[in-house]
Amino acid sequence: NADLAMYRAKSEGRNNYQFFTAEMNLRASEQLMLESELRHALKRHEFSLRYQPQISLSQGRVVGLEALVRWEHPERGTISPLDFVPVAEETGLIVELGYQILEQACQDAVKFQHLLGEPVYMAVNISPRQFRDIELVEAIRAILQRTGLNPHQLELEITESTLMEQIDQSLPMMHDLEQLGISLSIDDFGTGYSSLSYLKQLPVHSLKIDRSFIQEIPHDQDDMSIISAVTAMTQKLKIAVVAEGVETREQLDFLADHQCDLIQGYLFSPPVTAQELAERCVQIRQQLQQWQA
Ligand code: C2E
Ligand code: MG
Ligand code: MG
Ligand code: MG
Repeated sequence: NADLAMYRAKSEGRNNYQFFTAEMNLRASEQLMLESELRHALKRHEFSLRYQPQISLSQGRVVGLEALVRWEHPERGTISPLDFVPVAEETGLIVELGYQILEQACQDAVKFQHLLGEPVYMAVNISPRQFRDIELVEAIRAILQRTGLNPHQLELEITESTLMEQIDQSLPMMHDLEQLGISLSIDDFGTGYSSLSYLKQLPVHSLKIDRSFIQEIPHDQDDMSIISAVTAMTQKLKIAVVAEGVETREQLDFLADHQCDLIQGYLFSPPVTAQELAERCVQIRQQLQQWQA
């Protein structure tokens, strides 16, 4: 944004320069404030998690949950990760926040496992900075030990761009994580530039097709062709595929017809609190029975 402002300032002439500088200063000071607020919030544990179910159509039930962070701000209410994760990332605070999230998600996964009486995996988003943390593998090992979660029930979501930008460091790290029994999932698939040859080499368990490809079903022929190509490819590579952001019955029908077994989106459930989850799972089962009928 700063670059864009600078570009505009230059292209629109000298007179605008001061104005844009002032605006950029304001942004910088807002950023600083947010940073110090984030530090306080971390100490006070103001972050909480919502869980969004992932449904397997073939199994007819919730098989996984994605943990999504929220900031419960004492004055401003619930704040979306889109509004603070980027600053947490830039300042490095995401590393500490990320470990708080992992610990909470693993604890809750153990509880859900008992509550639902069926195996569910927990998917946790890992930011680029966290993925570069040399202590990541050890920290996760310790969290698994403390919480008692079976490593096979933990999945880490890493975006395509994070993975490819750091491919040299990523590879050994991914193999270490795999050794621990943890699954890896490529988030926002299709928005970056994955090399297909890497997909074959990497210990990747699933791809999450980005919501932007799902949104225009059944109107965008190109998106639909891409989806059917991706599901065909993942089947050959024995990688699971998840559709993100499924909102309509038409989208669900298309995905089911094109061998996409795993579905996540508002059609079944938004991200919900831990307390709401059991009831949601019951509703989802009913919804699936009606859909199959
Ligand atoms: P993401 O990992 O791709 O997560 C999916 C986002 O899509 C979530 O937004 C989810 O609420 C939203 N979503 C799910 N289904 C639908 C749908 O049917 N329609 C629409 N319109 N949206 C849907 P959310 O929770 O706001 O998170 C946004 C992003 O923030 C995440 O994208 C992820 O990149 C980041 N994020 C969230 N939680 C964490 C976290 O714990 N750690 C890190 N590092 N990043 C996180
Ligand atoms: Mg994700
Ligand atoms: Mg995603
Ligand atoms: Mg996304």
